[in-house]
Amino acid sequence: MKCPLCKGEMVKGKTDLPYPLGKKELIVIQDVPAFVCNQCGDAFVEMEAAQKAEEILSTAQRDGVTLGFIHYREAA
Ligand SMILES: [Zn+2]
Repeated sequence: MKCPLCKGEMVKGKTDLPYPLGKKELIVIQDVPAFVCNQCGDAFVEMEAAQKAEEILSTAQRDGVTLGFIHYREAA
């Protein structure tokens, strides 16, 4: 897989996905499985992982969390 930005090589790794919820609210899902460019660091998150991250996000919002870091886990 090639990076869409710089055509560098994308390798399996992890990335943090920030979800801004408002002016001051931000939830960051950490260590989401992704392909990361070894040249520019751009990350590509697969659909499945992105959906899980969004499930984690909505669970956190239900619990009233609007700010902070949440570790990605397989079973959300
Ligand atoms: Zn790149």
